[in-house]
Amino acid sequence: MSTVKNWQLGRDIAYPYDENRPKKQWAIVFDLNKCIACQTCTLACKTTWTSGKGQEYMFWNNVETKPWGGYPLAWDLRVLEKLGRQDWSANGEYLGKTLVEAAPPSERVLHWAPEDQDWMYPNIGEDDCAGGTVDGGGHMAQLPHDKWFFYLPRTCAHCTYPACLAACPRKAIYKREEDGIVLIDQTRCKGYGECVRACPYKKSMYNPWTRTSEKCIGCYPAVEQGVQPQCVVNCIGKIRVMGFINPPWSARADNPIDYLVHQKQIALPYYPQLGLEPNIYYIPPVHADPAYLEQMFGPRVHEAIERYRALPQDPVAAGLLCLIGSTDRILHRFKVERGIATGSDADGTELVSVPVTESIFERSAFDANLGVVRNNTP
Ligand code: SF4
Ligand code: SF4
Ligand code: SF4
Repeated sequence: MSTVKNWQLGRDIAYPYDENRPKKQWAIVFDLNKCIACQTCTLACKTTWTSGKGQEYMFWNNVETKPWGGYPLAWDLRVLEKLGRQDWSANGEYLGKTLVEAAPPSERVLHWAPEDQDWMYPNIGEDDCAGGTVDGGGHMAQLPHDKWFFYLPRTCAHCTYPACLAACPRKAIYKREEDGIVLIDQTRCKGYGECVRACPYKKSMYNPWTRTSEKCIGCYPAVEQGVQPQCVVNCIGKIRVMGFINPPWSARADNPIDYLVHQKQIALPYYPQLGLEPNIYYIPPVHADPAYLEQMFGPRVHEAIERYRALPQDPVAAGLLCLIGSTDRILHRFKVERGIATGSDADGTELVSVPVTESIFERSAFDANLGVVRNNTP
């Protein structure tokens, strides 16, 4: 067992392999205040990658309603229950055990194995509120909301310390040096399912037709061409941005992902206490129960929400949020100057620019040139 640095937990952790960070690390930031659960991302992935035999139940990208939804059923509750107490110190160091540290001697990772039935209801709990039923607009009477839910889109997190990789007895799972994407070598996989059991996020799935395990491939063919993944570029709500994250000790203020995660600290990993250093990051919903959010995103969540609320006073951050969803290209750098947000490639080539505030034109109903009155009534 090696000792490796986990910056999300503020301490070193145990892991079966030595620390070996890739040259670049694939990452996605999601703004949970904007997701509308349209599931376009889910279907964009499904129709691209998992329409074959044995993949019928697979959703490499799924969107679940928290707190009641989960695919597979109650995946996070099961894992958190097994892990036991998850305390943090006042200075943000995780005091509990990670899944690797809590594993019994015969296992590499503390795991929970879903049963077939747990995979049968991908939309369970959709739009179900916490806090009872909403009647007569009662939820509007007080803030913060005592009745709440939010949508949580999820993909594989292409973890820095993947549990799937740690658990595979065939060494069939590898993390790419060039972009940090975690892949299963289908020629080596024998379908033992250890990765399916070990991944706490349940993003490795068994294909009974091919008798191998499969998972989100980070849309690496697109990423190699400088294009963001299918579930990102098709997002209706423009809530997602894919890029490359640096660890905090080499973060760049002009890298969009570094800016949101390290500089502004408004985007957080989910369930960091599991110890995998997952690389999908969430801007937390401002209206949900604080204790619930703290369990999911760690103790820094309250400050993150306050910073997010203050964004209208921050023209750089507001400009970056305008760039999200404005191009299918991967943005390595960005800047905001004189009300224009610009995104560029790693070599500085401009890829897109958008105004931070859209101009508004008011047109009178009567067009004197044509002598007609226009209206918007069909
Ligand atoms: S989310 Fe799961 S499947 Fe993806 S890299 Fe992490 S442990 Fe592996
Ligand atoms: S990154 Fe690609 S493979 Fe992974 S969930 Fe998104 S669309 Fe699917
Ligand atoms: S496409 Fe975007 S807005 Fe729609 S469910 Fe997916 S993440 Fe949410």
